[in-house]
Amino acid sequence: MPYSYVTTIWFRLLLPIVSLICLYIGFDVATSYTESNIGILSNLPYVLFLSCIALARAFKQNQIAMLASTLIIAYWLIQTRLQSPLASGSTMLELSLLAALLPMSLALVFNHNESTSFAKSLIVYLATIISIVLWCYLMLSHFYEGGLDNINETFLFVVSNVSRIPFILVVYFVGMILVFAICLMSLNRTVDVAVYSSALLAGTTFILFHIPYISSMLYSMSGILLLIYLVAASYEMAFNDQLTEIPGRLALETDLKHLGKRYCIAMLDVDHFKSFNDNYGHDTGDEVLRLIAQQLTHIKGNAKVYRYGGEEFAILFRDKSADEVKDHLERLRISIASYDLHLRDYSSRPKGDQLSVKNCMQSQSGEVVNVTISIGVCDNTHHRHVKQVLKQADVALYEAKQKGRNRVCFA
Ligand code: GH3
Ligand code: MG
Ligand code: MG
Repeated sequence: MPYSYVTTIWFRLLLPIVSLICLYIGFDVATSYTESNIGILSNLPYVLFLSCIALARAFKQNQIAMLASTLIIAYWLIQTRLQSPLASGSTMLELSLLAALLPMSLALVFNHNESTSFAKSLIVYLATIISIVLWCYLMLSHFYEGGLDNINETFLFVVSNVSRIPFILVVYFVGMILVFAICLMSLNRTVDVAVYSSALLAGTTFILFHIPYISSMLYSMSGILLLIYLVAASYEMAFNDQLTEIPGRLALETDLKHLGKRYCIAMLDVDHFKSFNDNYGHDTGDEVLRLIAQQLTHIKGNAKVYRYGGEEFAILFRDKSADEVKDHLERLRISIASYDLHLRDYSSRPKGDQLSVKNCMQSQSGEVVNVTISIGVCDNTHHRHVKQVLKQADVALYEAKQKGRNRVCFA
């Protein structure tokens, strides 16, 4: 559950498309500006991608650094080898090779995980990409004699209304962009949006390669978008809780500064969680916290859920009184208490295995347990300051514990 709209699927999916549409609308202005500042703008992608690598290093986002490195190499190849007319020498062949290999190189970053050291993963990745480029160079210098006309006619035919590059590559690009978009829609990680956006802009560059300055414009745009994704990812990291993937305490404190006339706060605490950890282990406890967090997010009533800390959660209801949220909270309490947790034997789990809550639930090998929560609620009818409302919700929570737990109490 993203804290901010900048990391929602739709924003991520549409941002590169909207950027392309904006460029299309202001294309004449962009072209004349690029033309008069070509010295600076042709080098801008290098500056942007290098900034991405530096920032990715600071934010421990190895995969974005890898993407930026690939795009620098691709841009450099375009600038140094592909500036002559497409029909001359091996230009079309080189362009086709680069266009075919770039999406694959972008997809390679999915193979690396963020836990490997930054320098090691970047070196391995760059070695792979440079080997591919060198292999293509060798192939070209040894086998190209200008005798590929037959291949051109059979496979590499061009539909000039669409693009000057072979039509098969256009289809391939559209296919790869769709695959990356599906990855983004199903996983919505920073790396997914970065790969999708880089492929979309690199693909558009190749498809519109005959347009002057297109590579400088679109690679600059790609660099800017990567920087935006990096900043959004670090923002999300600060506001979202890593374990439960719901907004954390900083998010709650920020939201509490922007409240309307009426609001209601519920404080939730898992009952006897210390004994749960003692009995089933800390890892199982972590999975249960993730599960509870997911259950909480299903609550109705225009509510926003936060992990307050430890095994405590908070729910903020805007424009609602305590009376209005009573039924929602009662239903939530019952749904958690009646949820059967099928525990997995964590001692047999391979190291680093990040089981999802769903898998944990589906694993039928272990014991079935239930947890309960206690809830304290207070609205701002009788309190001016949000601190007082929070305090009274806490007092009500304490009362719920005292009365035997697994219940909702109102201040
Ligand atoms: P009560 O019903 O009174 O709330 O009892 P309790 O045991 O839940 O309360 P207590 O405050 O004594 O213990 C809270 C426990 O929550 C202690 C700690 O081990 C556990 N806990 C806090 N954060 C985490 C976490 O991130 N993961 C796991 N697995 N356990 C946590
Ligand atoms: Mg507690
Ligand atoms: Mg507790």
